[in-house]
Amino acid sequence: MTKENLNPFEIAQQQISEAGKYISLDPAIEEILKQPKRVLEVTFPVRMDDGTVRVFKGIRSQHNDAIGPYKGGVRYHPDVTVDEVKALSMWMTFKCGVVGLPYGGGKGGVICNPKELSQGELQRISRAYIEAIAPIIGPDKDIPAPDVYTNAQVMAWMMDAYSRLQGSNQFGVVTGKPIVVGGSLGREKATAQGCVFVIIKAAEKLGLDLKGAAVAIQGYGNVGSQAAFLLNQLGCKIVALSDSRGGIYNPDGIDLDKVSEHKSSTGSCVNLPGSRSITNAELLELPVDILIPAALENQITADNAARVKAKVVAEAANGPTTPEASRILYANGITVIPDILANAGGVTVSYFEWVQNLMHYYWSEEEVFEKLRTNMYNAFDNVYAASQQHQVDLRTGAYIVAISRIAEAIKVRGYA
Ligand code: NAD
Repeated sequence: MTKENLNPFEIAQQQISEAGKYISLDPAIEEILKQPKRVLEVTFPVRMDDGTVRVFKGIRSQHNDAIGPYKGGVRYHPDVTVDEVKALSMWMTFKCGVVGLPYGGGKGGVICNPKELSQGELQRISRAYIEAIAPIIGPDKDIPAPDVYTNAQVMAWMMDAYSRLQGSNQFGVVTGKPIVVGGSLGREKATAQGCVFVIIKAAEKLGLDLKGAAVAIQGYGNVGSQAAFLLNQLGCKIVALSDSRGGIYNPDGIDLDKVSEHKSSTGSCVNLPGSRSITNAELLELPVDILIPAALENQITADNAARVKAKVVAEAANGPTTPEASRILYANGITVIPDILANAGGVTVSYFEWVQNLMHYYWSEEEVFEKLRTNMYNAFDNVYAASQQHQVDLRTGAYIVAISRIAEAIKVRGYA
């Protein structure tokens, strides 16, 4: 097994240095970008259903706000660490920067196991966390959103807790809310839709016909399943899918309606009649045109990258490819659409939600997707142009676009 450095904070720092070389990044700005501006650690007591009181730990990392308020999700997980939250807040700065949103990066976490918590306990934790970080968040300061094991309901509690503290409705303090309290139409499909928009652009550049193109998707969850349906509508053939229990493969194409039926009766896509069972590792190495990792980080590594056969890898998941694997894929002529671009549709529609909240005026789903299309196409073109200009992969191109924009803001504001 190859030893790779998989510390997310150190990887994020290396990516800044790597892209910085191509734009002669001012060393002072590089130093500024390598650390979050503020990291708040809080503890708060919560009354559990059995009457006992437990003290939970929460974190909010605010990386950089040179071009706008901090923006980023809140993760509920027993393994949340300060380093992980710091790295995720950095990636949010670059994700917002690459698609040109007027936001900097933030991220939050609460160390807890949501699978062991009742709805009442989850609500009390969510309210207490927001009260603890209230001094540093707000519609013009820092706008949280859902992440791993947080959802629209959690956002509604958070918005309500913050609104009560302020004495008036503050819909714009978090995004990813239910529609009835200021959520945006299209938010649930946004990440997959954004990913499909950049796949369309990449296919155009490569001369790849999407009609009949073979697609494998690792992780048939929210993003993976929506991407499958959208690509199917464009004429792609979905040949492989997987979830945490394993994968299925049919080179002639998988009927997605049958997958939905099978998944609702068995809880998984595995053993779908008419398909061959494969492992998640095998899925990554199939002879397909498009591979979409949509599950976990560190799936394509130095160990398996040389066996990836796809023409395009669209990183719907965050961090599915290690830095070493990225170099191998690039050397092998595989086009990798990096996570900070490929899954930025989610934060883009979060931005649209916030804009609608501030205007108190709401758009149709068609309007939302039309604006998303414009943003994602422009972002792809900018990244592609940067990668061509500097003869680098799209990931480095994406960092060049994002860092150039943030560096300019830092400069004109007089920080460096
Ligand atoms: P999800 O929980 O709905 O789906 C995840 C899927 O991955 C599930 O089908 C699960 O069974 C599968 N999975 C879990 N462990 C696996 C394993 N070891 N091997 C293969 N599959 C496994 O999550 P989601 O919202 O679809 O998010 C997927 C990825 O996309 C994550 O990396 C997330 O950070 C990223 N992402 C999501 C959004 C969003 O808007 N939901 C936005 C940006 C990035």
